[in-house]
Amino acid sequence: MAPLEIPQELLPADGRFGAGPSRISPAQLQHLLAHADILGTSHRQAPVKDLVARVQGMLADFFSLPGGYEVVLGNGGSTAFWDVSAASLARTRSAHLSFGEFGSKCVSAHSTPWLESPDVVSSDPGTRGALSAIAGVDLYAWPHNETSTGVSAPVRRVAGADSDALMVVDATSAAGGIYCDVRESDVYYFAPQKNFASDGGLWFALMSPAAIARAAEIADTDRYIPDFLSLTQAIDNSRLHQTLNTPALTTLLLMEAQLEWMLSIGGLTATAAHCAASSAVLYDWADSRSDVTAFVRDPDHRSPVVVTLDIDEAIDATAITSVLRANGIVDTEPYRKLGRNQIRVATFAGVPHSAVEKLISSLDYVLENL
Ligand SMILES: *Cc1c(COP(=O)(O)O)cnc(C)c1O
Repeated sequence: MAPLEIPQELLPADGRFGAGPSRISPAQLQHLLAHADILGTSHRQAPVKDLVARVQGMLADFFSLPGGYEVVLGNGGSTAFWDVSAASLARTRSAHLSFGEFGSKCVSAHSTPWLESPDVVSSDPGTRGALSAIAGVDLYAWPHNETSTGVSAPVRRVAGADSDALMVVDATSAAGGIYCDVRESDVYYFAPQKNFASDGGLWFALMSPAAIARAAEIADTDRYIPDFLSLTQAIDNSRLHQTLNTPALTTLLLMEAQLEWMLSIGGLTATAAHCAASSAVLYDWADSRSDVTAFVRDPDHRSPVVVTLDIDEAIDATAITSVLRANGIVDTEPYRKLGRNQIRVATFAGVPHSAVEKLISSLDYVLENL
């Protein structure tokens, strides 16, 4: 049987709705072509160092970086940063808010022979708990947005925590799409393939003076730290607009273009408002249909950038996502390990409202005609 064909006029012009990697715009590709002469040139020379410096500078502007904070970067994406944190930031014991796959991977990374076993506040998928202060914990970690479930958690220092405890926030899918006061964190880290619409492979960390001091303190101990996980080396390199090893220049150029655009439309307050409005359209649509329900029950916990919608058990969500895929609307499948009858839609900064509206028209059509 041929898959259901969605009428052309209902389809979004760009069918990419994945929660990362996410759509890359034609303007970004033009930027890449316009700067193609630096591709294939040395990352130790001025043209690439200037590019890194521009990206660092734009991130500082975009996040209104507080005095003394620095934009540090390295290779390996956010997954590598979990190990960086365990090797170079955690002193004795970490505590975690874990409410999905990414938060739990961060916990695993901090379960090491050289640290005490982490304290973990976990909750069922689609919900979240809250961290409270624990004496002796020197690093608190949580995701700003749990991409696997579509739950977000506020970025706020844990009240009553030891005075030198660090607040380390995985902002991979949140950064650029959810408002954040960076002063409420010591390390706000992310990779560029979500709201920043770039390719994967790098991590960026907005680091407070306390976090920079902690990295130096740990580097001074006799703990063995591989170069790749050494935050002091990453900090030293970042101050020179370099990375320990060769970065992907395409990733940096695509990110530069997206940051220029995000700043031009009004910066973080504008992009956060955009994502909040896009996601609200989807949550409202779910409320309007009896066969679709927001997976995250508490509206305060719902993500403005990753919308997870449960589908009535009488309808196979895989049939919906397969029809969408056959019609060019891709990556609306739920997180693979969540195992729910669900669709997941990213409403990142680069996804226009018109695309979300078309997606809804397409979904209505599929639900009526399956
Ligand atoms: C995508 C994602 C990651 C993983 O990022 P990589 O760059 O692929 O390692 C980590 N945390 C969150 C919250 C994510 O959304």
